[in-house]
Amino acid sequence: MINESQKEQIWQDCLGDIKVSVSPAIFSTWFSQTYITNLNQKEDRVIVEIGCPSSFVKNTIENRYYGLIQDTLNKITGQKCDVLFEIKAKKENKSQEIALTPLFQEKKEKKDETFLEELKKSRLRPFYTFENFAVSSSNQMAWAACEAVAKNIGSAYNPLFLWGGVGVGKTHLMNAVGYYAKKNDINKNVYFCTGEDFTNDIVEGIRNKTTQKFRNKYRKLDILLIDDIQFIAGKDAVQEEFFHTFNAIVAAGGQIILTSDKPPSEISKLEERLRSRFEAGLIVDIAPPDFELRCAITQIKAKEKNINLEMNIVQTIAANLDSARKIEGFLIRLRSAVEINKYPEITEEIVENLLGKRDQEIEKRKKVSSEDVIEAVCKQYTLKKKQILGNSRVKNFALPRQILMYLLRTELNLPLQEVGRIIGGRDHTTVMHAVEKITKLASESVDIREDITGIKKTLWG
Ligand code: ADP
Ligand code: MG
Repeated sequence: MINESQKEQIWQDCLGDIKVSVSPAIFSTWFSQTYITNLNQKEDRVIVEIGCPSSFVKNTIENRYYGLIQDTLNKITGQKCDVLFEIKAKKENKSQEIALTPLFQEKKEKKDETFLEELKKSRLRPFYTFENFAVSSSNQMAWAACEAVAKNIGSAYNPLFLWGGVGVGKTHLMNAVGYYAKKNDINKNVYFCTGEDFTNDIVEGIRNKTTQKFRNKYRKLDILLIDDIQFIAGKDAVQEEFFHTFNAIVAAGGQIILTSDKPPSEISKLEERLRSRFEAGLIVDIAPPDFELRCAITQIKAKEKNINLEMNIVQTIAANLDSARKIEGFLIRLRSAVEINKYPEITEEIVENLLGKRDQEIEKRKKVSSEDVIEAVCKQYTLKKKQILGNSRVKNFALPRQILMYLLRTELNLPLQEVGRIIGGRDHTTVMHAVEKITKLASESVDIREDITGIKKTLWG
């Protein structure tokens, strides 16, 4: 029997996947309030019931995102899923906490409530600590700098500026400094936010004439951690306010740590005075992890999630996935697959299957060309290439032509102009119109949906 927290976990995993394939606005409008109400195995299928807060949400999700949800559930559970929707609001909306607490509770040394409460106020995450951070040549400098800063707040390097690609551990390390400082002195005034949060805060302060409140909040901090600081570049009022915040904190002996995807010298539209402040501290880059580090990260993340992995399996995972984010995502899928299929242990075969399936899918996706899509649409509607690419406005040609444009745009992600060129030199607004029309039709008409599914089957099997 699957318990509540497992259901929640599966749905969180799905939402995590869905989140990257739809826009943030769509995600928060349609998906954020949903949850799994029931999950039952029936012979070789899994019936998943999804609770929606209103009939409006239910209808929209059912019509537009049924396929996406089903595909994602199939992938996460490793089984064929049937999805049903019902109107049933969630009692409490604490998805975020649920996703985090089960892992946390299973830890032996339970952290005490006040400390957790304090971390929350500082917006620090309890797992991003130095203990949970693996060190290798690619991140050794950054790690050492963070340790030095954590032990000498305000006096080692100020600011400390960490930069590097996605998933190299910038947020984790920065958070670890805050955690360490809090652990040593719970009264330390630490605050973690993103460049975007900071921007929103100041914009709101200006709009509501509460800039003084904003200043009281930021300028009195002992440690200010701003993630993805590049976000503030080009925003004059925000940079101005940040400059004064920065000076106030540093003058009072506080510490500033910043992260970015680029070094200060390459952040365009960053005010000169900020750039020179950043350059006066320590700038360290973090490179992508090598194989050994990926093995270590796999072990750390598996332990956190209570997944037991033999060393050869750890190595298989590390050899196939090149970033910490991918490793983490994979372990989440692995755990779901184990739970739902009730595997008694994790074998190399299970892992390879789960890794391989993905790779093959991506491979297959890559190989499809625009020519293949044209052929598949022609086949679906028994048309000739000349007819579909021609000028005739007869409905029998025009609709398949619009579906073709829609697929080139949404499946191959080609630019509008490029799609226009392929379809016999049409204007990009024609393509835009076609994509909109088919998106709408597909949500209203089962026939169109089935046609599209048929074409996709021809393309990707
Ligand atoms: P970034 O901010 O650079 O994009 P994150 O700090 O968000 O990267 O890291 C992505 C994920 O990978 C997090 O779950 C983090 O804990 C993990 N991670 C990255 N590097 C390490 C490491 N050296 N040791 C342990 N976990 C790591
Ligand atoms: Mg980050």
